[in-house]
Amino acid sequence: MCVLLVNILESFLGECRGHNEGKGQTKFDCPSCSAEKLLDNGDGKGKLEINYRKGVFKCWVCAYKNNMHGPIEKLIKKYGNNHNMRDYLLVKPDNNYEQETYVDKNIHVQLPSEFIALSTCSQYEPQYSFAMTYLKERGIDEEIIREFNIGYTHEGKYRGRVIIPSYDEFGDVNFFVARSYSNYIKPKYLNPEAEKQQIVFNHNKINFDATIYLVEGAFDHIVTPNSIPLLGKIMTYKIKMLLTENAKADIVILLDDDAYVDAVNLYKELDFGELHGRIKICKPPYGHDSSSIHQKLGKRGVIKLLKNSRRLEIEEMF
Ligand SMILES: [Zn+2]
Repeated sequence: MCVLLVNILESFLGECRGHNEGKGQTKFDCPSCSAEKLLDNGDGKGKLEINYRKGVFKCWVCAYKNNMHGPIEKLIKKYGNNHNMRDYLLVKPDNNYEQETYVDKNIHVQLPSEFIALSTCSQYEPQYSFAMTYLKERGIDEEIIREFNIGYTHEGKYRGRVIIPSYDEFGDVNFFVARSYSNYIKPKYLNPEAEKQQIVFNHNKINFDATIYLVEGAFDHIVTPNSIPLLGKIMTYKIKMLLTENAKADIVILLDDDAYVDAVNLYKELDFGELHGRIKICKPPYGHDSSSIHQKLGKRGVIKLLKNSRRLEIEEMF
């Protein structure tokens, strides 16, 4: 079935540039933005991603500019013909069945049902001012709250916590971090059960054409431009492959000050093959990470910190 589907897509999109059967994900050159460059065989970049298991597509470059996202039927209507549509409808996965098998393989994370986005809720909601006070103390302003859809709940398991959601490449929730804003609520972090190896936190926000910063936690991520939080000090295989295949500019490793050895190890792991020569390291001052720098010195402090990114000398790597 997978092969048939890919054949149908290839018949009007040209050569498939990548295929992950496990996820049902394929890549093609975008018929909209790559055609603007007037190349006969596409630009070879494979920025149009199609997930036939979910039945959706999205171009990483022009999704919103050229309206290149949505159900696969929309893509076929725009660029295929009636034959393509008929073939597709014949072989397209039966949604219910596919979703069930999908859930078996991956734990499907959803935001708590009681989740309320802070940017949309009334200031008279209970707990609202506690959550806002906590964020303000950490230097998180309303712009960041809106950009990352930060929220909270006033009841249920996650009550008393600030929630930072994470979205996958299609804009679906794939994880969240719930940090308590009261010293009485333990543990500090209560995160959902998930297949951590598969999560790229806020995948949909990554700009692969610009410098990417690898940080440790979600609170570092929301104050560091174009960053990916590793949710720890170790990089998953998935993030490594994503960077190797897509990153076009530098990658800066910015772990907490106490994790410098881990940072150097990551540097050595990434500074290889496609990425060789484009890996840098940024060491925060003693006792700090980008979140605490932001809390103390604001945006400017973070920008100043990022300016210290540098390549390692060979003798520093052993
Ligand atoms: Zn495009």
